[in-house]
Amino acid sequence: MEFAYRQGVLCAEQVPLDEIARRVGTPCYVYSRAAIERAYGEFARALSGRRALIAYSVKANSNLAVIALLARLGAGFDIVSGGELARVRAAGGDPRRTLFSGVGKTEGEIRQALEAGVLCLNLESEAELARVVAVAAHLGVRAPVAFRVNPDVDAKTHPYISTGMRQNKFGVAYAEAERLYALAARQPQVQVVGIGCHIGSLMLGAGPFVDAAARILALTQRLEREGIRLAHIDLGGGFGIRYRDEAPAPIAEFVDGALGVLAGRNETLILDPGRAVVGNAGALLTRVEYLKPGESKNFLVVDAAMNDLIRPALYDAWHEVRPVREPQAGVRAPVFDIVGPVCESADFLARERAVAAAPGDLLAVMTAGAYGMVMSSNYNTRPRAAEVMVDGSRMHVVRQRERLADLYTGESIPSW
Ligand SMILES: *Cc1c(COP(=O)(O)O)cnc(C)c1O
Repeated sequence: MEFAYRQGVLCAEQVPLDEIARRVGTPCYVYSRAAIERAYGEFARALSGRRALIAYSVKANSNLAVIALLARLGAGFDIVSGGELARVRAAGGDPRRTLFSGVGKTEGEIRQALEAGVLCLNLESEAELARVVAVAAHLGVRAPVAFRVNPDVDAKTHPYISTGMRQNKFGVAYAEAERLYALAARQPQVQVVGIGCHIGSLMLGAGPFVDAAARILALTQRLEREGIRLAHIDLGGGFGIRYRDEAPAPIAEFVDGALGVLAGRNETLILDPGRAVVGNAGALLTRVEYLKPGESKNFLVVDAAMNDLIRPALYDAWHEVRPVREPQAGVRAPVFDIVGPVCESADFLARERAVAAAPGDLLAVMTAGAYGMVMSSNYNTRPRAAEVMVDGSRMHVVRQRERLADLYTGESIPSW
């Protein structure tokens, strides 16, 4: 919606993408402020009137400008590392509205989170509870905790991004949860404040999400009967978006389903969407370097690669690729695999696409706002892309392109 052709050129809001490429170069991530606000607004509207917290999952896109924008809208944050906590604080986000998730929190990270005063540590094992108790005792504070419980429902998504089933590394087993809560409730160094779950990513229908809510509520009620009262119920993220032709249920359908399950309950409802907030708000801008016709395939070699956007290589993900110059009707568009310069056969951004493109042309890889830049690497000693945030007719460089020298600062050659 915020990415559309105007006078024959693909624009982000009012800014033509060729103008961004001219000023910042390629590859470059481009985000639309309006798109992020619109997506966040869908959650905020669906939850209005209910005590709730939208804890944006920072791992989807952790640029400071994105975090700062969401903080201004009133978002809280879901983080999975001390690094993400540092980003939230640097961007002006509120640690007291921040949940710390993840299976492998180090002692240092737990200390950092408690000193910052986070809303809650989402515990994923008994061993982690013991570690939090020890750190809290050492600091002389009471640590707010919840368990991430595995509700054992199938989110009906890709196995790599499904997280709520029994065989998964995430969360504590549903059957174990009561024992762990009782154990935690006996520790003076922790305060049990909530319960969480997250069943996977890219959910298209609300069914599994609502089932998980019901399972979590049933557990909450059992805990209540044992005298353990919770302040919040966190149902996670994982709301699907359209990459190709998927038709995810509207956010309101997920939220209304959960609100129905939780009717009459006083706990604060927490959601932690990542992809649904930023996914459609970003595009990766790249330039065609070469056309390489082959015996069985034609390749379009572009200047962005798997190190910039790994989703196609990692998940076989499909991203729409749009030419920045609007294609003329009737122009022949040969079929290409769109590949980058990295030395791996998995280095492709898209396969078998009909595009009319010549060397020097710009392409936009769409729906790249989530799990794009954050998963980028320096493989092949490629500097990471610049990031730009468009706001109406203005553009802000929100991350400068890495310089080559940045890539080996910190390295040294021994004096043999
Ligand atoms: C990754 C993650 C999310 C966000 O998932 P999306 O698919 O981006 O919405 C939310 N909560 C937890 C605990 C996560 O691990």
